Amino acid sequence: MPIPFIDLQAQRQRLGQSLEDAILKVVRSGAYIMGPEIAEFEAALAAFGEAPFALSCGSGTEALVLPLMAWEIGPGDAVFCPSFTFAATAEVMPLVGASPVFVDIDPVTYNLDPESLDAAIEAVKAKGELTPRAVIAVDLFGQPADYPAIAAVAKKHGLKLIADSAQGFGCTLNGQHPIHWADVATTSFFPAKPLGCYGDGGAVLVKDERLRDLIVSLRVHGQAVKSDIEGKTFEHDPKYLNVRVGINGRMDTIQAAVLLQKLSIFADEIAARNRVAARYAAGLSDLVTVPKVIEGGVSVWAQYTIETQDRDGLAAALREQGVPTAVYYPIPIHRQGVYSGYPVAPGGLPVTEVKAGKVISLPMHAYLTEDDQDQVIAAIRAFVKKNAA
Ligand SMILES: *Cc1c(COP(=O)(O)O)cnc(C)c1O
Repeated sequence: MPIPFIDLQAQRQRLGQSLEDAILKVVRSGAYIMGPEIAEFEAALAAFGEAPFALSCGSGTEALVLPLMAWEIGPGDAVFCPSFTFAATAEVMPLVGASPVFVDIDPVTYNLDPESLDAAIEAVKAKGELTPRAVIAVDLFGQPADYPAIAAVAKKHGLKLIADSAQGFGCTLNGQHPIHWADVATTSFFPAKPLGCYGDGGAVLVKDERLRDLIVSLRVHGQAVKSDIEGKTFEHDPKYLNVRVGINGRMDTIQAAVLLQKLSIFADEIAARNRVAARYAAGLSDLVTVPKVIEGGVSVWAQYTIETQDRDGLAAALREQGVPTAVYYPIPIHRQGVYSGYPVAPGGLPVTEVKAGKVISLPMHAYLTEDDQDQVIAAIRAFVKKNAA
């Protein structure tokens, strides 16, 4: 039987009847939008991520666009982010009319390089065409970015900091979640993410109460929230008072019900993913470049990504043995046609360019059996030895 790249069915079987009961309960209740599971899940998510507030929304992309809208980031503004990431990280800037500015990555962790970030901000300031407003750091492949250094750069320049933790929700650095350093942390519940639902979903974690109110308003068409109507009187129901331009950014109640179930086993799954990662490292580190987590960091291992010279050869050899692989990401965002006109850090993005040609990700999930993993390791060892000989 071929080895799955991600095994969502094993997780479903583990959760069993309680998961299906939770879904059916929502179906029977009729509270499909903003049912009670939404607030219950938001409280549980805030507790898990050690954030004062968590707000659910329709996707990880919406989670990124909502804070940009709340801060009124738009035309003439620059938001700094890595190019070695999923397109959504950079996509939200043009969506609000702002410009992404692409920054290089650290060669070991693949996460935002604080020096390249500082240089990019200085260059944009010197040029004087765009106003620096925010930084989006990404917890790529599940491990925390270098938040102490990145937050220091953002603070020095007076910029907001977003942690795009779509792949890294649950990761920590020195025991702290990314929101400890960032103004906002976002995540995605796309099914293949470490914490996924059964469709699209996302969340924004925030520290500031005013920002929370703005996002609550923006995710439902700019509806008036308590702080907008306090002390005022209305002739009509203020529910239909739209005080800002927002979006439909709600999460479905069914997805919150699914996520409440999944969150209950998430800590255990993170531990299991770390055991899988440790076994890969033990079985492969003498032959290929295996991932290294930042000192003091705990990854949630969205991906287990190695580097080889002959990526295509390795992928083909593994495919023959029933071992799937994937490449995240073959084309950095600044090399994609629609993004090629936006600024990059001074000196370009040499690390990003090299890594995009080398990385390849292996099967990784909490339910990977030792037998299956040994098969993956053996297939890689056989390929590397044959080709080095
Ligand atoms: C998946 C992902 C997103 C977008 O999440 P969606 O829920 O698919 O909209 C954003 N950033 C990163 C780094 C991602 O991996």
